[in-house]
Amino acid sequence: MNEDLALRVLSTLRRHGHQAFFVGGCVRDLLLSLPPKDFDIATSATPAEITALFPHSDLVGAHFGVVLVKEPGSSVEAATFRTEGPYTDGRHPSHVSLVTDPRLDAQRRDFTINAIFLDPLAPPPPGQFLDFFHGRDDLAHRLIRCVGAPRARFQEDHLRLLRAVRFAARLGFSIEAETLAAMRLEAPSLVYIAAERVRDELTRILTQPNPAEGLRLLGATGLLAVVLPEVQRLQGVAQPPEYHPEGDVWTHTLLMLSHLPANPSPTLAWGALLHDIGKPSTFSVSDRIRFNGHVEAGLDMARPLLARLRFPNDSAEQILALIANHMRFGDIHRMKESTLKRFLRLPRFDEHLALHRADCLGSHGHLDNYQFARRRLDETPPEVLRPPRLITGEGLIALGYPRGPLFREILTAVETAQLEGELSTPGEAEAFVRARWPLPSHQKHEGGEA
Ligand code: ATP
Ligand code: MG
Repeated sequence: MNEDLALRVLSTLRRHGHQAFFVGGCVRDLLLSLPPKDFDIATSATPAEITALFPHSDLVGAHFGVVLVKEPGSSVEAATFRTEGPYTDGRHPSHVSLVTDPRLDAQRRDFTINAIFLDPLAPPPPGQFLDFFHGRDDLAHRLIRCVGAPRARFQEDHLRLLRAVRFAARLGFSIEAETLAAMRLEAPSLVYIAAERVRDELTRILTQPNPAEGLRLLGATGLLAVVLPEVQRLQGVAQPPEYHPEGDVWTHTLLMLSHLPANPSPTLAWGALLHDIGKPSTFSVSDRIRFNGHVEAGLDMARPLLARLRFPNDSAEQILALIANHMRFGDIHRMKESTLKRFLRLPRFDEHLALHRADCLGSHGHLDNYQFARRRLDETPPEVLRPPRLITGEGLIALGYPRGPLFREILTAVETAQLEGELSTPGEAEAFVRARWPLPSHQKHEGGEA
């Protein structure tokens, strides 16, 4: 953490006659007795004045007046007090003006609890805070409240809608009534935010503490219907009580999020969120409620959803793999050895395992399949899960097989037999191939020498 550097930068600025405070998340977290992530400084010094005092610094947002002061292993952002001109695009101010009045800087911040200035060098309270918008009262009442008129603040920057949910969920705060009403009214404007930004805010909400509360709030504010209608539609979709005593698919998804491990990877969190999105469209009632084909339906919905949110390919693939495989744990006791080994060696299998565990804990609570998978994984050394190849494509050519689509079939069959424990030497593999795929005699001669 950068507390030490931040204190030194702050005192240097002071010594040179500037105003300087800690501000934002670090002050909020300190007041809540939470460990701050990063210390940020707000100052009356201009970017030029800051860089003159700290030679190892970079202007990060020249026109925003933010300087990154660096030293090996640490850095701190020092931002000049500023006001922001009108927002025209729902995300960026048309211009900013550097100012020397901290009140003006507090005014452009999103929530009262994020707009408190702390002077760490002053004697203890009340002198050490500049709290123009009563952020400390809102901290005491555990409230997220906009600085200024909520509707206008959300209209300026629509991303604040998601930030409100993020802070409320993470901190376990309520959203103050007027702020909440404005969020409901402004929810549709989220469509104007770049997909990547929406995705990143949602990812933060899903991977921070209390993701279930985050999702609940997204639903309750109408934000979810705008950004993830596929997830919104899980509400009210009944499930068979014998497998899902917890209730509908929405309730199950919320519970499942609450059972993820702490600090889940983004792909795991998104996999959990989306694993059952195929259920609403495949709902049917026969002998009982069924969702035949919900995995495939879910994959067909998740592909465009992930593309819409501009997920990078590798993340999208993993999220899709999590959805695709989540029902396979139910067959794990019946899998052939080779199928089981291939299952256990899926890329980032730990995420499949964690998703399945949360799936169970968010419904019937039985963990036998989970425990079986874990035990087999622990017991099986990597070289058994992924044994060295007994034969290669080159080897097949040497045996006289013509290169082509048959190669994959042969190589897979050899590996299957190997994983089943039926083959363990190259010689056995060769005999296996010759017996199963006999070559016409002239080809045997051609290849024999190679
Ligand atoms: P975290 O602990 O998640 O980093 P934070 O409060 O530090 O929370 P940041 O996104 O790092 O949040 O922003 C730092 C500060 O900048 C905020 O506390 C807030 O005062 C201000 N801020 C950030 N984004 C916005 C925004 N979109 N609108 C208004 N003020 C903002
Ligand atoms: Mg921060």
